[in-house]
Amino acid sequence: MTNPFLSPSALPYQLPPFAEIRDEHFEEALEAGFAEQLEEVRAIVEDDAAPTFENTMEPLERSGQTLSRVAHVFFSMTSTDSTPFLEELEERFAPRFAAHEDAITLDPRLYARVAALHEAPDASWTDEQRYLVERRHTEMTVAGAGLDEAERARLMELNQQIATLTTRFDKHLQADTNDLAVVIDSEAELDGLSDGEIQAAAAAAAERGLDGKWLITLPLFSGHPWLASLTDRDVRRRVMEASLARGTRGNEHDNRETVIELTALRAERAALLGFATHAHAVTADETAGSPDNVMAMLTRLAKPAAANARAEAAALQAQIDAAGAGYQLAAWDWDYWTEKERTARFDIDTAALRPYFEAERVLRDGVFFAATQVYGITFEEREDLVGYHPDVRVFEVRNEDGSELGLYLLDLYTRDSKRGGAWMNSLIQQNELLGHPTVVMNNLNVPKPPAGTPTLLTFDETTTLFHEFGHALHGLFAHVTYPSLGGTNVFRDFVEFPSQVNEMWMLWPGIVEHYARHIETDEPLPADVIERLQASESFNQGHDTSEYLAAALLDQAWHARVAGDEVTDVAAFEQDALDRVGLLSETVPTRYSTGYFQHVFSGGYSAGYYSYIWSEVMDADTVEWFKQQPSIREAGQRFRERLLGVGGSKDPLEAFRDFRGRDADIAPLLARRGLDAAE
Ligand SMILES: [Zn+2]
Repeated sequence: MTNPFLSPSALPYQLPPFAEIRDEHFEEALEAGFAEQLEEVRAIVEDDAAPTFENTMEPLERSGQTLSRVAHVFFSMTSTDSTPFLEELEERFAPRFAAHEDAITLDPRLYARVAALHEAPDASWTDEQRYLVERRHTEMTVAGAGLDEAERARLMELNQQIATLTTRFDKHLQADTNDLAVVIDSEAELDGLSDGEIQAAAAAAAERGLDGKWLITLPLFSGHPWLASLTDRDVRRRVMEASLARGTRGNEHDNRETVIELTALRAERAALLGFATHAHAVTADETAGSPDNVMAMLTRLAKPAAANARAEAAALQAQIDAAGAGYQLAAWDWDYWTEKERTARFDIDTAALRPYFEAERVLRDGVFFAATQVYGITFEEREDLVGYHPDVRVFEVRNEDGSELGLYLLDLYTRDSKRGGAWMNSLIQQNELLGHPTVVMNNLNVPKPPAGTPTLLTFDETTTLFHEFGHALHGLFAHVTYPSLGGTNVFRDFVEFPSQVNEMWMLWPGIVEHYARHIETDEPLPADVIERLQASESFNQGHDTSEYLAAALLDQAWHARVAGDEVTDVAAFEQDALDRVGLLSETVPTRYSTGYFQHVFSGGYSAGYYSYIWSEVMDADTVEWFKQQPSIREAGQRFRERLLGVGGSKDPLEAFRDFRGRDADIAPLLARRGLDAAE
């Protein structure tokens, strides 16, 4: 039997032939795929002819077909239906993938060709061709492909030192987080927690040999979910203070020196690569383009966020006074008093909502129905096509005129062999160069009910399905020439924008009544519940936005260091960074402080924590635009053609301008979060 990865699939839309794939096919195809692409790249770089788009970029885009076929299936299965065999293979091949990637991206001969094209673009190139050269050149430059031998040696040294420090940061954080867990001596101190939470605290204590006591372990962010319900103010204070102290106590787990060294090394590496700061190097390869643009956005949001947080604090103080509690609001009181108000104002019993969200109805009469209303596309289940697991369903998607668009696969249920969370991935990436269609996939982790009973989704799971389907549409609507620019191959600070936009249809008039109906009575979700759900979106947003922005600004400040500058006092550095933008607040601490800001010091989000709100500004502005359009079908067509279909084939800010007629405005985001009222 031949290896099914070694040739294109003969199934409709080139759907991978899951029924034929066996364990032994992966390794053989991966080896063949690596070798094939290296050979293809070798032919490009050894070409004596002067570099042209046709002899360099095009063959590069065509290269690696076997690897692409096997890798898409391999990573899909290792995340959703893994086995000890696949796990072992993944561990063994992870460094091989990294080395393969480096062998191409860091090839100095390939870089010389791309750089030559970048310096002298040909007037005959299409916009997409010009953009492809631009992107590849930036990616390779940021990775260090343009360095000479001595510089490259220094880069590798720096990378190693940085890797050592990020590992140390994590170790310190883990140890200090464990040490700082709060030990509780009497159950009375846990008043306000549920029985389950108290049992969990007792079990955590027992695990450490603290029998008869309770232990409050700390999550990653500042504070703790239980601060909303713990009635003992002193316990709240102890938990909050422990959380904020992490990594800065002057013991052997102190992260301050680690961060100073780490950010200095990142600054030196950026300088070596030709960038002013690490933030410049990172944002060069993002939608934002420069740290100045990021700072401008964050600074504009900071003022209204801080003003609203102050107004919220005043309202909480009034509650404290009215209750005769007799103290000044502190950071550890915030969630407790906020929760009282939330319950009073929005009282929504989320468990009671589930009968309104039956999964099949949400999918067909909600998610698919919305896409038909907005984009005209239709869906038909293809029982004749199979995935890697019986729970995977395959739908054929067609345009309004009946023409073929692609396949959508859905794997809704959780299982032990699936990683947590929800996501979208591509199995076949649309592109005209190779004539590929589109096959996209969504994964969720919904608990599977017993056979014969319907799946009732929670409100959050329903939101997630609309969200992930937004990513799927981004992939399905891709209409590009070159595979590396298609669909969701866009910048990190852009990729969440289309998926966030798709969430708007969930409670849209005309759509919500169509699908959110009680499974037994067929009654629609009551209008007052919908109103309360919508109103609760802007609740406490002065606080939530402020703590997020403070963290995003800290991230930018640390990564704005220049090689050779000096930082000695971490607390002063933090205070100064937050004070400059008006976000220094005792009652609203930053969501992550330097000692435990894992996302940016070890988690791959360095100088990029801003990206969540960057996408949301575009999202809120787009939702506002849709609300103003007389026809959502016509509006959808414009959004599809000018934004979703473009994928990563042009500057996303230009695509947005083309779609919206101007740059994104922050006003709709402020309005959505209720931040437009104060001041
Ligand atoms: Zn997403």
